[in-house]
Amino acid sequence: MAAQVSDFNYDSNERKRLRCLLDSYAGDNLNRDILSYSQRYDPQTRLLNHHSFQEALSARLGSLPAGQELALIWIDLVSLRRESSLWGWKRAEELARRIAGNLRFVADDNALLGRAGDSSFVVAMEASKRNKANWRRIQAVVDALMPQGQSLSETRLAVSAGVAFFPSDTDSVEDLTRFAILAADRASCAKSRNLIAFRPRMNTTILRDHLLEVEMRKGLNQSQFRIYYQPKVDLITGKVLAVESLMRWNHPELGEIAPSEFIPVAERTDLIHRVFEFNLRKALEDARRWRNLGLPLPVIAVNASVASVREDDFARTVRTIMAEIPIAPTRLELEVTESLAFDNEELFRARVRQLKAIGVRVAIDDFGTRYTGFNVLKKLRLDTIKIDQCFIHGVGRCQDMLSLCRTIVAMGRQLKMRTVAEGIEERGELEAMRQIGCEAGQGFLFQRPVEAEDFTSFLRDWPELKRAFAFVDERSLFEADALCAAG
Ligand code: C2E
Ligand code: MG
Ligand code: MG
Repeated sequence: MAAQVSDFNYDSNERKRLRCLLDSYAGDNLNRDILSYSQRYDPQTRLLNHHSFQEALSARLGSLPAGQELALIWIDLVSLRRESSLWGWKRAEELARRIAGNLRFVADDNALLGRAGDSSFVVAMEASKRNKANWRRIQAVVDALMPQGQSLSETRLAVSAGVAFFPSDTDSVEDLTRFAILAADRASCAKSRNLIAFRPRMNTTILRDHLLEVEMRKGLNQSQFRIYYQPKVDLITGKVLAVESLMRWNHPELGEIAPSEFIPVAERTDLIHRVFEFNLRKALEDARRWRNLGLPLPVIAVNASVASVREDDFARTVRTIMAEIPIAPTRLELEVTESLAFDNEELFRARVRQLKAIGVRVAIDDFGTRYTGFNVLKKLRLDTIKIDQCFIHGVGRCQDMLSLCRTIVAMGRQLKMRTVAEGIEERGELEAMRQIGCEAGQGFLFQRPVEAEDFTSFLRDWPELKRAFAFVDERSLFEADALCAAG
């Protein structure tokens, strides 16, 4: 069925003018022209729709004089989607019309303008990558998008834009759009910038991420993943207090892939939940095996990504897996990085409460990297603080680092939390942390992460090995408190 004049959002004058124009056409012609218009333009903003924009862009690039460059700006307005869910579609469309008006006002006369989706706009304008003044023009286009005096004005950074240049970034129309979107995606994660230019690294990263995601989906079913274990040692008695489970991925063709590479990929997808469940199951099974072998069962620590912990059913998942593989709840510790406590304290507190109700321990991992204060920590009621390894490296030779660690240890003691120094590699670091009363340590100095079988041997042999580190079994001899006060 052909579109009607009333299908589009025209004001009454426009509608009259258009009706006169349409009346001068007859039957098929009229229907064909309206149809063609509705196929080319977004009815709300009257900007080119995505498909026509791509066609027009292709034509423009094809006729671009040699030596000239064109910038493609992709703009995402997350706030427009939010506005739609808050106030309804009509209000969001009204805003979209105003945004389109702003775009027309600020963009060059011969710029191509389009609406690429509900909350995405595209602009193609002549601009050179190396010209600073051009950058200011592009930024002005992005900045002009928020309608002033609207509720949106408070969420200016909800605009995220990416720009790619033809031909310096690519001479393919398809890639030009893809690259601008990639850059816009980066801008949506950036803290202080709402416009980011495409860099070739973004393309290689996304292709690698995609490859890893596809391979991880397969690999999780094909036992390519294994869990390694690393002890956390009491710095005074040398007892193994806990063991951290760390994931390893050995891909048949890509080789060893580090967690620092595949965990962030998993975190951006649903895979992180499978990673967590895989890890928790395996760790609990191994813990039970050690107990059945009569070995002293330390607390088993499992890393839980912020992305998993955020999920509403996180605590339920933990409870379900613990029902499958029973273990005393206090024998399990979940390590969550500081970022959740920093970004969403309330959610973090709710999760800690749920986990505490189950009885499991909660540790704050990589502490010190996000400056969670004493007051926040006090409210969270966690069990363990793991001091990030960046504070431990060379701590024996650096008074400033030592003072910082001493403050964290004192804070932990005040809050009745165990402090663990991460990444102890040298004797000097061990001595320094012991001296300031840090309770436990983890690091290559004691043991690198190893597979379950090797860790079984480690647990068996450790009572002999610990003599090498001169641990003293009589805690009273060391009086950590007194040492700390003296230090
Ligand atoms: P993390 O939880 O802070 O784990 C400690 C990391 O420090 C591990 O790296 C460990 O191998 C490394 N490490 C331990 N001692 C030393 C040392 O003395 N020197 C140095 N330089 N490094 C040491 P790994 O296994 O590469 O893991 C890196 C990060 O990846 C982990 O940091 C954790 O955030 C994440 N991760 C690892 N496995 C998992 C997992 O199964 N699930 C989740 N969500 N994250 C994981
Ligand atoms: Mg950890
Ligand atoms: Mg850590």
